[in-house]
This record gives sequence, structure tokens and C-alpha cells, in this order.
Amino acid sequence: MVNHRRIIMVTVFAFLSNSVLLSAPKQDHTIARQRSMRYTSRPKADTKAWQEDVRAKLYQLLKMDNSPQGRSSIPFSAKEISRADRGIYNIMEVEINSTSSRRIRVVVTIPNSKDKPVPAVVCIGGHGSNLYSPYDPKTIAGQGPRKTSDSIYKGFGTVLAETGYVTISTTVSQHKVYEKGRLLMAERLWDLIRCVDYLQSIPEVDDRRIGCAGLSLGGEMAMWLGAMDERIAATVSAGFLTTMDHMEQNHCMCWKFEGLREQVDFADIYSLIAPRPLQCQNGMLEPASQFYVPLARRAMEEVRVTYKDLDRPENVVLDVHEGGHVIDLPGLIYFFDKHLYENRWKQKIYDKRTKR
Ligand SMILES: [Zn+2]
Repeated sequence: MVNHRRIIMVTVFAFLSNSVLLSAPKQDHTIARQRSMRYTSRPKADTKAWQEDVRAKLYQLLKMDNSPQGRSSIPFSAKEISRADRGIYNIMEVEINSTSSRRIRVVVTIPNSKDKPVPAVVCIGGHGSNLYSPYDPKTIAGQGPRKTSDSIYKGFGTVLAETGYVTISTTVSQHKVYEKGRLLMAERLWDLIRCVDYLQSIPEVDDRRIGCAGLSLGGEMAMWLGAMDERIAATVSAGFLTTMDHMEQNHCMCWKFEGLREQVDFADIYSLIAPRPLQCQNGMLEPASQFYVPLARRAMEEVRVTYKDLDRPENVVLDVHEGGHVIDLPGLIYFFDKHLYENRWKQKIYDKRTKR
């Protein structure tokens, strides 16, 4: 009996030792294969070349042909579904062609002021959102359903609309692939790129001042849009900055696609936005399992290297706010007013002070 037990224990011990010995090199090998295009500090010209190489590789992995010629051959064939005058701005719901065989719905707001052309922002919702989510109920009244969970967006689309921006929003929260042979992330990104195309077709829009902003999956898609579409002049990515290792646990895995981890981490994708202005927002109340501030700080240190190498260290900020998984609205407005409205925030403060 004793002997028998000893044999079992020895066997178990041998099995455990074996698995430790076998698993250790395997794990190292996996890590070694990951992130082969990771950014490391280099001269300015080489940084630009790195960005071009990574962008090309990511377009290849996304199986996207993003040639402007290819896109311009797809007419919008825009159809206005509804329109309402909200006094300061007009809101329209429009249907446009995203691909040659698929149409999408977008919400567009255009200010009624005569200060034209004006900057524009692509507003992006997260999981469970729709095209109305970034707006207040009063903005979208009669336009479509708004969910109670949408309060996390703080109606940032409405505030932008009220303060002189053109805004556009579409739905990217789907988890099914629409067209055969495409990737989910690619279809989401493509629809957002088409939103930028559509903004460029609006006469009121200054196409050198187009920004994008989103929260959660919307923050992830803002990262992708800012990184892959160089027409984006300023990006706010809220509730998303973290690492891919972290996103492997406790999260919907829709961020991942074949070949991605072998090439880059999120810090590298954010680095493609440099030197264009980027604000990442992470809330102090995010728990360790979510978009945790200490992890965001670590990832941001990596992103800063690229901005420093491109001589614009001041163009990237981590806005750590007191909330949880929500938009920091004052931070977002300040950032867009600074970068897309010629430091308008400064003028506002100056006017206030001189009136005292
Ligand atoms: Zn998902």
C-alpha cells in the first residue's frame, strides 16, 4: 500500500516536472514570435518608414485594399431618411454605400452657423451601441432608439454638434461579418473610413480638420481609424488603452485576428497616429480586470517614444480622469477645441478673464 502510494507520488511528481520542463520553452517560443514589428527608438526618417511598413502589413492582415482610387469608385448614392432642425444644428439620418454591395446608415449633424468650413468628428460607440449612442436623447428624438446604457458617452456627439463641429456616427458594434471573405475588424474600420470619405463630400467640412473619438470598442476603433487613415487630424481614444496580453482575459475577443499579435501590440498601433494629436482617456475607477490606469500608463510610455522621435512629444496625452468606463467630456472638448479649432479654448478663457 505504502509502496503503491509512493509510486503514484513519484509518477505525479515526474509528470509535473515534465510539464514544467516542457511548457517553459514552449511559452518562451510563443513570446519570441510575438510583436516582431515592435517600435523601438530610431531616427525620424526611419520612424516614418516603420509607420508605412506597419500600416501596409496591417492592411494586408485585415485583407483590406484601401486604395483611395478603389473607394472613390464607389458612389455614395446617399438617401436622406430623416432631417430635423435643432436650432444650432441640423441632424440628418442618411443611408450611403459603404461597399459596392452594402449600404450603411449614418447620423450627420451640421451646424447652422455661417463660420464655414468647420472641423468634423467621427463619433464611435462601443459594444451594444448603435449610431445614435454618442448623442443626447434630445438630439436623436424621432431619429431612432437610444439605450439607457448610452449615458457612458455623455452625449459627446451632441456637445460637439452644439459647439460648431460637423459630426458623423455609424454602427460598428456588430459581431457578424457582412460580406464573404472579409474580417470583422476590417468591416468596422472600412465603414469608419467611409464616414471620413462622406465627411469630405460635405461642403461645410474643412477636410484638414477631421477628428475621431470613441469609448471602449469605440476607443479601439478610434485607435484603428487614427492609425490607418492619415486624414484623421486628431484622435480621442477613451476606455481602451491597454496591452494585448491583458485583452486576452475578461474581454470579448473581437479585437483579435490572425497574424495581429505576431506583429504588434496596441502601443504600436497607437504609434501610427504620431505625430498627429492623440488623447487617450482612462478612468481611475476602472478595475484591474478592465482598462486599468497602471496598464494604460505603461502602454503610454511606449507610445511616447514614437512621438518623441517625431519631435512632437506634446501631441500625445494620457487623460487620467476620476470616472470609470466613461467619456471624460471636458477633456474631449478641450482636446478638439485645441487641435481642431485653433486653440479656441484659450480664446474663451482669455475673453472671460478680460471681461472681469
Ligand atoms: Zn466584441
